[in-house]
Amino acid sequence: MKHLNHKVDLCVVGGGLSDTCAAIAAARHGLKVLLMQDRPMLGGNASSEIRMWVCGARNLEYRETGILEEMQLENFYRNTNRCYQVWDTVIYEKAYCEPNLTLLLNTTCQKAETEGNRIVSVTGWQMTSETYHTVEAVYFADCSGDSILAPLTGASVRVGRESRSEFDESIAPEESDRKTMGLSCMFQIRETPTPQPFIPPEWAMKLPTDDDIPLREHEIGTNYWWIELGGDRDSIHDTDALRHELLSISYGVWDHVKNHGDHGAENWVLDWIGFLPGKRESRRYVGAYIVNQNDVSSGGHFDDAVAYGGWTMDDHFPEGFYYRGGYPTIHHPAPTPWGIPWRSLYSVDIDNLLFAGRNISVTHTALSSSRVMGTCSLLGQAWRWQ
Ligand SMILES: Cc1cc2nc3c(=O)[nH]c(=O)nc-3n(C[C@H](O)[C@H](O)[C@H](O)COP(=O)(O)OP(=O)(O)OC[C@H]3O[C@@H](n4cnc5c(N)ncnc54)[C@H](O)[C@@H]3O)c2cc1C
Repeated sequence: MKHLNHKVDLCVVGGGLSDTCAAIAAARHGLKVLLMQDRPMLGGNASSEIRMWVCGARNLEYRETGILEEMQLENFYRNTNRCYQVWDTVIYEKAYCEPNLTLLLNTTCQKAETEGNRIVSVTGWQMTSETYHTVEAVYFADCSGDSILAPLTGASVRVGRESRSEFDESIAPEESDRKTMGLSCMFQIRETPTPQPFIPPEWAMKLPTDDDIPLREHEIGTNYWWIELGGDRDSIHDTDALRHELLSISYGVWDHVKNHGDHGAENWVLDWIGFLPGKRESRRYVGAYIVNQNDVSSGGHFDDAVAYGGWTMDDHFPEGFYYRGGYPTIHHPAPTPWGIPWRSLYSVDIDNLLFAGRNISVTHTALSSSRVMGTCSLLGQAWRWQ
């Protein structure tokens, strides 16, 4: 097999919005940066592979600016038909055209070499070119969502929900557990001028009545985020089994909307369905400080605040689609904005490891607010390079 070596100042693993904004920001600070991403396009959950829209600390007065805003303005200008692949292209172009930034797409980070408390290099496999790439760097950033560099380096992480007493968090469960929020396979629909039939695959879940999807809005024009599974399983190692189950539910829900009851869907067709589940939560790194519910609720007035969140503490029940206790999430209020400290963006035990995205150093309850992509996109832009 071919094997190529690279030497840079910063190697960023991942390619979501957090990662791409972080890599571009560092390159603009003059660092030589390499971005290693296991998929063909950038954007993570915002890309055409998953299709989630960007939320953040938004109300009439606030919105995230910086590199995310550059991308979104370009998209509004050029993508008037709101084509997802054009959005992918806008993100790609921002990274591709950035001097000082090398892109390694379709490259899965699989290995890391460490010396003492430092990472020396990471190695990824690029499936499209049958090539191993080894990247030596001064700093490494893990923005992979699942924190792939943790199992590869031994960096400390947390998984699941803290007990109420550990951080005095009123919305945390009494006892700690390993439960998380779940994964989802989204779908998109399109209106046509005439009635259209829908024939579900045989393996689609059968959901003939509204009682099969209680308290789940499913009229035309809603978002099917509640097709969610895996929070009470292993949100990393069970992903592929969950993918099939999620697809069967997504097809089952669309079959329900089209063929069972009047949902105003006669002229609507399925336009796209995601085969790659989007993830909400898995490993969270332990940084020099762990942000918790009380920090969020009190506005996060840290001396070293470098970014901000502002989404509610939107804490989905781990059972997801199978939860029958009521509405599948609780939106606990959070102030807009609340501050996120620099100390929660670097590892407590690996000296040259930074992170941005849903894997920063927060408790489960704080994550339920910090995880949205507008917030995630600010984090890596706030890394200190002086
Ligand atoms: C169904 C769903 C609905 C959501 N709704 C919203 C919403 O409406 N608005 C909102 O703002 N947020 C929403 N979220 C939350 C948000 O999408 C995530 O919290 C956010 O995308 C996390 O960003 P990230 O950069 O950490 O991870 P990601 O966006 O997942 O990006 C991580 C990237 O790292 C890459 N990667 C992973 N492992 C490796 C590896 N070993 N080597 C190389 N690359 C790797 C992945 O391919 C991916 O591109 C939703 C999430 C889900 C799942």
